[in-house]
Amino acid sequence: MNTRTVLNKAQKLVIKVGSALLMNSDSHDIKKGWIEALAQDIAALSAQGREVIIVSSGGVAFGRKALGISWDTRPIDIRLEQKQAASAVGQPRIFAAYEQALEALGLTGAQVLLTMLETENRRMHLNARETLQTLLDHNVVPIINENDTISTEELRFGDNDRLAARVAQMVDADCVVLLSTADGLFDKDPNRHPDARLIPLVEQITEEHLSMAGEALPGLSTGGMKSKLQAALASTRAGIPLIIAHGEEIHALRTLFEDENKPSTLFAASENRISARKRWIEGHVNAKGSFFVDEGAMEALKKGKSLLPVGVKRMEGTFKRGDPIRIKTLQGYDIGIGLSAYASGDAAKIIGKHSADIADILGFTGRAVLVHRDDMVLGS
Ligand code: GLU
Repeated sequence: MNTRTVLNKAQKLVIKVGSALLMNSDSHDIKKGWIEALAQDIAALSAQGREVIIVSSGGVAFGRKALGISWDTRPIDIRLEQKQAASAVGQPRIFAAYEQALEALGLTGAQVLLTMLETENRRMHLNARETLQTLLDHNVVPIINENDTISTEELRFGDNDRLAARVAQMVDADCVVLLSTADGLFDKDPNRHPDARLIPLVEQITEEHLSMAGEALPGLSTGGMKSKLQAALASTRAGIPLIIAHGEEIHALRTLFEDENKPSTLFAASENRISARKRWIEGHVNAKGSFFVDEGAMEALKKGKSLLPVGVKRMEGTFKRGDPIRIKTLQGYDIGIGLSAYASGDAAKIIGKHSADIADILGFTGRAVLVHRDDMVLGS
């Protein structure tokens, strides 16, 4: 297993772009040529039928000038209110650069700003996930950043490495690529030890790897190798491999796909995705109600189908959309758990009914399923 085999198999990719790749270190201008080349690489992937999501930093970096923040100040030392204000200045500029580059190639970009809330709260998580998937279904390239202008210290990721890992979990991506100013993970800090060696494959992240990672150096980077390893831990635990590679050169993404000599570190997924997802659903839940399903529905669920309203004969509980619900037989035997696509008020009206009638009953067109198979774990 190596970076190229993982990339070539990946249908849905999350690519994280660090601030340092986007800003010319002398003029502090946006590196338009770099973004144009990235847009071309994305266009090529999209022409192969792949889905690409960009998680891009740069909001704060491109707003620094207007706020008079010295270039010597490290990003982590900028005061919160200054960061929030700087991002309001810089974010529209950086998004505009992506949008122009994509549009020139006939692609459309969409700006999506997330806070930790959308990735932690189940209902918001489902909403954000559906929005992102809808964009991808329409061939739109989501350009994501943390909503730094409204994120407060308690609600911040702070670095986009971990945000990228969360987004990948949210959309069930096949792989995360962190384009950075480093070639990957080294056994020692390569800035201080010329004999440091790159580690091309990490099958399991250990304490030793964590101790190899340094903090961010002075400059535009926020996270350094530490946050990249945290992102790798989160991502691989969720069954999604993560790759770190150097991104400063033009067409870095294309080169990563094509050139087997380009250095990188691949963090292999620690287990298969199904069990990771199971853990995620199980780990987050405290059931808020029950759906009692008939035999036909039970058979369908066992075959891996979603739970349709028509198969549910009874329900209990008061819950919101996205809340975890126990799935039980009519005799009350527990067969699994899943996230409800409807709040209890609406669910009560549509159980036992055909999906085609949902719009008439509720007055709006919701999902055809009550619990989507991706949101369900049987036998838990
Ligand atoms: N969200 C921050 C920004 O847009 C960047 C965080 C990071 O560089 O990891 O400036």
